[in-house]
Amino acid sequence: MEDDGIGYSKSGLVAKMRESGNVHVDGDVTFKLAEAYGFCWGVERAVQMAYEAKKQFPDANLWITNEIIHNPTVNDRLGEMGVQFIEETAEGKDFSGCKEGEVVILPAFGASVHEMKLLNDKGVNIVDTTCPWVSKVWNAVDAHTRKEFTSIIHGKWAHEETIATASFAKTYLVVKDMKEAQYVCDYVLDGGDREEFLAKFKNAYSEGFDPDTDLGALGIANQTTMLKGETEAIGKLLEKTMMQKHGVDKLNDHYMVMDTICDATQERQDAMYKLVDDKPDMMLVVGGFNSSNTSHLQEISEDASIPSFWVDTHARLDADTNTITHRLAHGELVETKDWLPAGKVTIGVTSGASTPDKVVEDVIDVIMATKKKMSGAPAR
Ligand code: SF4
Repeated sequence: MEDDGIGYSKSGLVAKMRESGNVHVDGDVTFKLAEAYGFCWGVERAVQMAYEAKKQFPDANLWITNEIIHNPTVNDRLGEMGVQFIEETAEGKDFSGCKEGEVVILPAFGASVHEMKLLNDKGVNIVDTTCPWVSKVWNAVDAHTRKEFTSIIHGKWAHEETIATASFAKTYLVVKDMKEAQYVCDYVLDGGDREEFLAKFKNAYSEGFDPDTDLGALGIANQTTMLKGETEAIGKLLEKTMMQKHGVDKLNDHYMVMDTICDATQERQDAMYKLVDDKPDMMLVVGGFNSSNTSHLQEISEDASIPSFWVDTHARLDADTNTITHRLAHGELVETKDWLPAGKVTIGVTSGASTPDKVVEDVIDVIMATKKKMSGAPAR
């Protein structure tokens, strides 16, 4: 099979499905591929830059500050090529092994200001694969900081992208969902228990953050892989709250919004909603288990009450026993026996922005092998 070296096959089954209306029928199984799925251009670009770095610095020690993207297959491949991962210790990342003149790759979701300064001071060659859409969010946060606004970041405080984004802000608060945003807005309008606020958002705000003094002027920013609709709803809620609190004529002094929602995340989510509307019997979601955008694709399917199976590699499926080990949107790993039904079945298929097509194809192969075993036919 033709492969461009990063697992983005141009002639495999997924490519064929794309050419034939995103549908593939094999015996009793109909696969329906989402209209937008898999590698986004930011991820493809990052992986290509990392491979190019290896070519251009063949004899140098190559490091990467984190997984380049959230996909085990791609990261393993980089490891095989000799790229070393900076170790994460209890005190943070250990850059001690990395020396002047060596090459350090920054991942697609960026690195913190602190890390970039440290690497500059070390005199290493930096290959910065940060996605331009992530940089756009940083520009928004930088604009908040210059106006002395607090950045409200819709994201997960422990996610590397959000850590990097927060490092550009002087004052920030990370909210993970609408519920948390509502709590913040209620505090802005009616006040509340300061200690409870600080305990609730522990680890999610900048040093010295005080809800009594730091919620007067707000700007919204987002982790690029969060649900687009939720980011927009949080933005609207903050805007309304600031209008109510300070008056509509003073809104611009108290609230800042810039369009920083990545097209790729939006397209994949929209395509998932469309696929859900087609009501397949079940959904297959392929992507790294620590991939935030993949978890949101799974969430859309779960919310629509369609049985949905999120796996990161084909190794999660066992054709002999018709068993799958899969993850739910909110983190639990579940083993389901007899997950494929006998007879005809339509399976919706999508994959996260950091998933090579080859990984999806390997999963489909095991599904077909399972069906063949169930029907007693020899597997191909
Ligand atoms: S999902 Fe969007 S922001 Fe993230 S790497 Fe891809 S294009 Fe960039």
